[in-house]
Amino acid sequence: MASNHAHHATGWAAGVIASALIVQAGASGPWHLWALLAFAAAIAGGTAPDWLEVAWWSRSRRLWITHRTVTHWGIGWVALLVVSWKFASFHHPLAAAAFGFACGGLMHLLADWPNPLGVPWIAGRHSLNWWNSGRCDLLIVGASWGAAWFVAAHVWLHRPYGLPLPAHWRMG
Ligand SMILES: [Zn+2]
Repeated sequence: MASNHAHHATGWAAGVIASALIVQAGASGPWHLWALLAFAAAIAGGTAPDWLEVAWWSRSRRLWITHRTVTHWGIGWVALLVVSWKFASFHHPLAAAAFGFACGGLMHLLADWPNPLGVPWIAGRHSLNWWNSGRCDLLIVGASWGAAWFVAAHVWLHRPYGLPLPAHWRMG
């Protein structure tokens, strides 16, 4: 895995992206509360694929799910992202939280992807095989924050360059 530090750092970046998109969608709720909720959920989601597979409620803390299997399943996270995005249009706080959680989880998968163990995006693991675990964390973190800056700048600074969001994404 990318190191835990890297997952935390990219999780924060996912939080910025998730809350910016919720704001952009006009689904941020009263006092931007749902956007804040999405932010917090993304930070939790950024490490979720790893803590979901640990039986943290038991004393032994053994893995009850094999490392990098179900909890790192790409289709599952993408499905959650798409469904929660649909529901976010109804301005429901749970949808915003689920959307943030999914953003964090997907960010986690992207951070795990380049190292040799790979990520089971669809079926069977796939690895970009770029480097060994924990190496080049800085690059991953830098890329995630670059993406976060790009999205946040578009939403809050109204820069001339825009995200190529399809028109039907803009709601609210
Ligand atoms: Zn992982």
